[in-house]
Amino acid sequence: MSKFLDDRFSNLLPYTPGEQPKTSDLIKLNTNESPFPPSPKALETAEKELKKSNLYPDPECTELRDKFAEVLGCGLTKENIFVGNGSDEVLYLAFNAYKKNGFAFPDITYGFYPVYGEITCAEYKEIPLKADFTVDVDALIKQKGTVVIANPNAPTGIMLDKKEIVRIIESDPDRIVVVDEAYVDFGGDSCVELVKKYKNLLVTQTFSKSRSLAGARLGFGIADSEIIRDLNLLKYSLNPYNINRATLALGIGALNDEEYTAENCKKIISARAYTRAELIKRGFTVLDSRTNFLFAAHKNIPGKEIDVK
Ligand code: PMP
Repeated sequence: MSKFLDDRFSNLLPYTPGEQPKTSDLIKLNTNESPFPPSPKALETAEKELKKSNLYPDPECTELRDKFAEVLGCGLTKENIFVGNGSDEVLYLAFNAYKKNGFAFPDITYGFYPVYGEITCAEYKEIPLKADFTVDVDALIKQKGTVVIANPNAPTGIMLDKKEIVRIIESDPDRIVVVDEAYVDFGGDSCVELVKKYKNLLVTQTFSKSRSLAGARLGFGIADSEIIRDLNLLKYSLNPYNINRATLALGIGALNDEEYTAENCKKIISARAYTRAELIKRGFTVLDSRTNFLFAAHKNIPGKEIDVK
């Protein structure tokens, strides 16, 4: 580090992103991307849009927000939708916006939450999972400040019942509850329908997994319009054109091809069931995943010693 770096960052431990190998002869599992290419309709829409790259994109992402609200249903409109450069950006902005009383989130969960806690200089508490790897809701409720829950959780893949999320939301209407639904399309039960009822709920979703657009960087915040305005306040103070033209078009194209997404999710869910059963046959304990990955441990052989080649 240079001598010029602000003291705030001197002990910052950054998130380690998953490696992108340079060879193509691997079955790549490390970052939970989709094995399927983006929807052909999405690619076609984006190709046309690339020709207009001399012009800035729509900072309001109007068409995409309208379309996503329509697809989500539940009486939502574009005023309930925020678009981020990946859901990571939405989460980062939420950590900036709602740090007043600190944060609480499970340990273990998505590794970026503590990093966002550090970079925003927020106080945060990591609440251990229970022995069965489920989220300790009672302990989370006892904390003050914003609660962040990945649901389904990563890397366990376990989904917390919606009733339990409601219990956290209702435990204190003066705190924000962020529900990170990065993997919800693989058999999870979304909390999006609760957005109309609870003003203190922010749901984040991503097109990186079920919609095969990890490389395009497209994520969403879904919440009451006042929360969306908070996020916009920060976005317009940081990077108004946060979504490039090609990505906007890819997102709209993907939403015009929901059958493709549904079909791919079905294939992944069925491959997950097969893989889980085969692992169990081979002596693994495998948690019940609602995601596109499995959390497994062998009864006798430590993970480090398992050669996957
Ligand atoms: N939340 C969870 C739980 C994740 O696993 C990921 C992806 N690693 C993200 C959020 C961020 O996804 P993206 O920024 O690609 O939308």
